Amino acid sequence: MSIELQVRKAAKGDCIWVRFGKETKGNIIIDSGTAAKAKEFSDIIETVRERNEAVDLLVLTHIDDDHIGGFKKYIAKNDCKIIKEVWFHGSGVNAYEGITPHSPKNAVQLSDIMKKKKMNVNNEVFKGCKRDINGAKLTVLTPEIDAVLRVGALLDDAAAGIKPHSEGIHNQDLDWLYENDKYTRDDSLTNAASISFVFCYEGKRLAFLGDAHAEDIIKSKEELFKGVNMDMVKLPHHGSSHNNPEELIKCLACGNLIISANQPADKNTIARIVHSTEKCTIYCNYTWWEGIGYFTEEDAKEYIDKEKLIIKEVEAKKAIFADEGKDIWILRKS
Ligand SMILES: [Zn+2]
Repeated sequence: MSIELQVRKAAKGDCIWVRFGKETKGNIIIDSGTAAKAKEFSDIIETVRERNEAVDLLVLTHIDDDHIGGFKKYIAKNDCKIIKEVWFHGSGVNAYEGITPHSPKNAVQLSDIMKKKKMNVNNEVFKGCKRDINGAKLTVLTPEIDAVLRVGALLDDAAAGIKPHSEGIHNQDLDWLYENDKYTRDDSLTNAASISFVFCYEGKRLAFLGDAHAEDIIKSKEELFKGVNMDMVKLPHHGSSHNNPEELIKCLACGNLIISANQPADKNTIARIVHSTEKCTIYCNYTWWEGIGYFTEEDAKEYIDKEKLIIKEVEAKKAIFADEGKDIWILRKS
């Protein structure tokens, strides 16, 4: 058995591909990046097609453009029959469309196109839902239905994207940031409605946390996976400090993390990670820490040189790879 994970370059968004199984391979795609990066999404579909496989599940975690843009562009020109099922909460938006002057147009349009193409869209994916796919078990952590319904009442989500990173914060050492850290929680309604789930396959547990709120993830983790460690975690909301408090990092108890972002991650998040894990590897789809003095000399001495923090780029067409019986995740050409 094996699990292959590709974290595609999705600009500021997410586009992650999980391929797993023995003789028969299962494929799950989580989000589709921005419209400008639609090529990454279509490239995955083409590879699946060439291998005579299918996309068992496409999870569109929430309605923000950096998660659905690539698929919306793709579906305009393709039949999508290769995609067996989609998880998407687009109908909550439809329900409220009449009363919001600037409804999240893209999500509404995408829902309509999928309906026209008779795609199998599941919009009832809530906390506690379970699914089996090709021997893997998926357990949904978030959202609860209330959060999905609230999104319907949302004005255009332009304001709900990534919060700007504080100027000059990279000049501070990780230790200074940790000591002076103040956490404020994410207040985005669309992120509150983000699907996040745990993928379990042959003893390995991978958590894909979308842009979900930390408080909701922690609560679900305690209820559904109490005392259970994760083997790999895609951190929520591109590593934003508003979604990644120390409590979340501790509760996930995982030394293999993914940050999907094309700009520097909030350094507060990294400070919390190095203080909550003994040793940690962060896999990134862009090398945002290079050439900008992101890590100080002190950081290098304390964490990077001692390999308490390993930060790696997942290059194009390379997969983070796990083999049966091994706890180490390696990068391998797929
Ligand atoms: Zn996002």
